Amino acid sequence: MNDNNDVNFDDISKRDELPPPIEEKWIVAFIQPNTLKKIYYRQFYAPGFYEAYDMVMTFMEKTNNKILWYKEKRKCGLYFSKKVIPYLEFVCTFCNNKFNNIEPIKCNFEGNNICTSEFCSLQCKQEHFYYMHIKKIKQFK
Ligand SMILES: [Zn+2]
Ligand SMILES: [Zn+2]
Repeated sequence: MNDNNDVNFDDISKRDELPPPIEEKWIVAFIQPNTLKKIYYRQFYAPGFYEAYDMVMTFMEKTNNKILWYKEKRKCGLYFSKKVIPYLEFVCTFCNNKFNNIEPIKCNFEGNNICTSEFCSLQCKQEHFYYMHIKKIKQFK
């Protein structure tokens, strides 16, 4: 008989009133009508198949891309669990516009940490780069 274990089990069951909605990571593979050779991947969160279907359909309608397949990430195998996949919709770090029809342009500036900002255009990247990485450094000198 272990009293400590009993106490712990009680604590866990009382901890949250409602479990958080279970959102699963999905991957969608698609091609662009004008560059049929390249396959693009996006990942996104959806609680179920119908939600995932809705999101994929909306994305394809907006972008005119063609779906190849989509499924839960955990069913996609090791290759996809290790692959870095952009999210379905990005918000440009600089201009805050949502964009989803191109591969995001990454900053990747290596300061103390690698900058993970993503941009809708090279112009936004350059502006961000100047304000965040060049101007700031100048101020401290
Ligand atoms: Zn932008
Ligand atoms: Zn940056």
